[in-house]
Amino acid sequence: MENDKRKVAIIGTGQVGMACAYALLNQNACDEILLVDINEKRALGEALDLAHGLAFSPSAMQINAGGYDQCRDADIAICCAGVAQREGETRLDLLKRNADVYKQVVAQLLSAGFGGIFLVAVNPVDVITRIIFDLSGFPATRVFGSGTTLDTARLRFLLGQQFSINPQNVHAYVIGEHGDTEFVPWSQAMLGTTPVTDLLGEKSCMEDLQAIEEKVRKSAYEIIALKGATSYAIGMALTRIVRAIFGDEHTLLTVSARLDGAYGQQDVFIGSPCVVGRSGILRVHELSLCPEERKQFIHSCTTLDDAYKGVHAR
Ligand code: NAD
Repeated sequence: MENDKRKVAIIGTGQVGMACAYALLNQNACDEILLVDINEKRALGEALDLAHGLAFSPSAMQINAGGYDQCRDADIAICCAGVAQREGETRLDLLKRNADVYKQVVAQLLSAGFGGIFLVAVNPVDVITRIIFDLSGFPATRVFGSGTTLDTARLRFLLGQQFSINPQNVHAYVIGEHGDTEFVPWSQAMLGTTPVTDLLGEKSCMEDLQAIEEKVRKSAYEIIALKGATSYAIGMALTRIVRAIFGDEHTLLTVSARLDGAYGQQDVFIGSPCVVGRSGILRVHELSLCPEERKQFIHSCTTLDDAYKGVHAR
């Protein structure tokens, strides 16, 4: 941090960017929010609308719309700008359209002197994060994506319902690509300190768990078909990550980070539990996956690596 003001720049003031800004404000998660969008009028309107709520908020935050030149002293740039997933479109289909957007965005942030953390939400998040890592030249500790934090929250919510327990007592992860090859390593899922698989019996069986896993995987498609976009939960997931950074929490979150040897993988950015603190990714916390889960994870890594190489092959 350059000074003791916790400044967040939100690049892209659409549904996701503004859900995040709203959550940051209501959770008093930073001291300053700068809203940047190619549509300057929209960013200004959002800044005014949000700032008018300050009288009812727990914080004395500064909220402004502005340009990249004002991002120099931002601690975190949350990348939400881009084109949203269309109904029926896979996240990987979005890749080429959003990769082009980020060539411009990263160049402008770098020329402004931005030296903070890139926190990426735009889809397909794992591959765009890797592209931003390449474009920025920043260390991998300071470039990561929301990964499967949202999917993990969905899983914890559904397991909480299934077993009538507070989701906060559910310790289970969705890992892999934020997309079609993501999966739940059930061998690692716990309610309190009890493995979920030990609780299977008359009320719940493995098929119920598989149905939950499928529901999580299809959630984005379902919500997009119903309301056109997903926003609130991703805004809260991003805010959770911001809090872990500013609070130097050393919290495990399934962000999309670069693997440097973990799971035998190199260079790919993928969602897996990582320890997050003030300097970003402190370390990847490697899970003890069973052989079948390891195979699934490597399949997800290969899918992402192929997509990344596909962009570079243009
Ligand atoms: P949106 O269309 O509502 O907003 C996108 C915003 O980006 C718009 O305001 C647009 O003007 C702006 N923009 C476009 N090009 C720009 C540029 N070159 N520079 C600056 N701003 C630019 O879309 P949304 O619903 O907010 O979704 C944003 C992204 O987040 C999408 O890629 C979506 O798939 C993704 N998303 C990710 C997750 C996740 O879990 N990671 C969840 C939901 C959505």
